Amino acid sequence: MLSPLASSISVVSVSLFFGAALLVAWRQFGLKRYAAIWALSFLASAVGHGVRVAGILLPTHQSLAAMLACHASIASFALLAWGFRSRAGLSGPVVLALWASSSLLVVLLWALQPFDWRMASRVVTSLTDAAFIALIVAIPKSVRNISPSLRWVLTLYGLYILSVGIAAFLARPGGEIGEAAFIFVLSLGTPTGMIGTGILTLFVVVADLAGELQRRAECDYLSGVLNRRGFEEKIGERRADAGEGGFMVSADLDRFKAINDRCGHMVGDEVIRRFARHLDEGAKPGDLVGRMGGEEFAVFLSCASAAEALQRVEALRDRLPSLYADLALPMPVTASFGLVRFEPSETFAQAYARADEALYASKLAGRNKTVSRLDAAA
Ligand code: GH3
Ligand code: MG
Ligand code: MG
Repeated sequence: MLSPLASSISVVSVSLFFGAALLVAWRQFGLKRYAAIWALSFLASAVGHGVRVAGILLPTHQSLAAMLACHASIASFALLAWGFRSRAGLSGPVVLALWASSSLLVVLLWALQPFDWRMASRVVTSLTDAAFIALIVAIPKSVRNISPSLRWVLTLYGLYILSVGIAAFLARPGGEIGEAAFIFVLSLGTPTGMIGTGILTLFVVVADLAGELQRRAECDYLSGVLNRRGFEEKIGERRADAGEGGFMVSADLDRFKAINDRCGHMVGDEVIRRFARHLDEGAKPGDLVGRMGGEEFAVFLSCASAAEALQRVEALRDRLPSLYADLALPMPVTASFGLVRFEPSETFAQAYARADEALYASKLAGRNKTVSRLDAAA
């Protein structure tokens, strides 16, 4: 027969382990506060099961211990849901309202005991914990990536918790199943649920860390747009979306060395940042903007018509000097552009080299110009 004491002690140690792991992740990897909230969730679970152990060892205080353990269980699931919602950028009042009202209900049930206290507290705790899981599952897809498989696992966990509530009702004094059967189910299910939740949360933390590393590897630190590596990784996908059509643009600030020399590197950096933002804001869905190095950028235009591509590049070039009006620079900031059609037979390197040649021609022609090669590649 499983021992509730052994089960509770194992849940305390498992909860402490996952709580500590999440705290380390939060502190060491600079993760957002949801990792800290999840750590608190596991610490609340450790406290709750610790109190249960105390209740088993001190039978005279068992009722008080059970009441405190209910609070800890509710707190643990509330913090789990709060962490998920915080990760999704959603606010916490729903969680806090459910947390406060269910805690109050537990206190009232304990103080007034209108029903059998054990059964009532177990049912309320199960229903509340399942409701917190439902709040996680209900996070809209559009807000943050909770993968479908994670949603399914959480739904199953919520259903298990609901079944515990039903079993608690059936195990009421004089009920359909015995207390021993209920404890048996709980002693198996609680450690399993705890380990599963711990692995899930750590998995989400690791996946978020990997996503952040990937983002850093493909983004340019100064300007925030893609770096060369990110651009080259994504261009294939964008070309396929554009039906292997589209246009390649190479853009380079004019006489930028002079800006650096006369205004300093910090101002130069700001000029690059604004140029990147300008190109990025001009991008439409399906387009791609990347910093290829220095003050040289590549833009993939997914549009189908050459006239539209040229008109968009000219609009970008035209508006550029006005972006720097507040900096009161000694010279206007302009850029030269090279525009080519991205031929289906071409690799990115070939199309970009041709766009660069066109850019070079626009520099030779006096700068602040767009040179286009919109006929088929030679
Ligand atoms: P051109 O019109 O022919 O393009 O002349 P240019 O002076 O712009 O020449 P070039 O494109 O070769 O200049 C690149 C300069 O950009 C040289 C380098 O010092 C500067 N640079 C490269 N990266 C950065 C950066 O991150 N910040 C700043 N402030 N300057 C950078
Ligand atoms: Mg330049
Ligand atoms: Mg350059």
